[in-house]
Amino acid sequence: VQKSIFSKIIDGEIPCHKIAENEFAFSFLDVSPATKGHALVVSKLPGPSLHDLSADALAGTMQLVQQVAAQIQRTLHPDGINVLQNNGGAAGQTVFHFHVHIIPRWSGDQALSFWKPLTFDAAELAQLAEQLRIA
Ligand code: AMP
Repeated sequence: VQKSIFSKIIDGEIPCHKIAENEFAFSFLDVSPATKGHALVVSKLPGPSLHDLSADALAGTMQLVQQVAAQIQRTLHPDGINVLQNNGGAAGQTVFHFHVHIIPRWSGDQALSFWKPLTFDAAELAQLAEQLRIA
């Protein structure tokens, strides 16, 4: 199987600006950041998406997300931080190796745009939740 670009970074075959690592994950600066300090936390096991991670790998990865977010907060003092994670091309994923974005935000930076909220009636929401509960 072909190694992902993130596996090559973890294995030291491609350079990165490393921030931290733990048993399950590795963190470095995003090369095309949305804001100053935009970091990635990448799972060490190269599952492509959220659906592929074990509970332990996911918990360990999210522990490193929390640690790196704290390091960013202490260092850069942003007004807020977005934690984002894309699964699938339709969701904007471009590197198919599980990773979490940590994006420090400053008031008025307009660095990200979010969704326009839709409206579903209560019966539709009830039916949808029922489908999800039994899935
Ligand atoms: P996603 O769209 O969620 O798959 O995000 C992939 C992210 O990886 C993008 O924000 C890229 O800028 C970032 N990226 C891709 N290659 C590298 C690299 N060699 N070093 C650091 N970040 C990278």
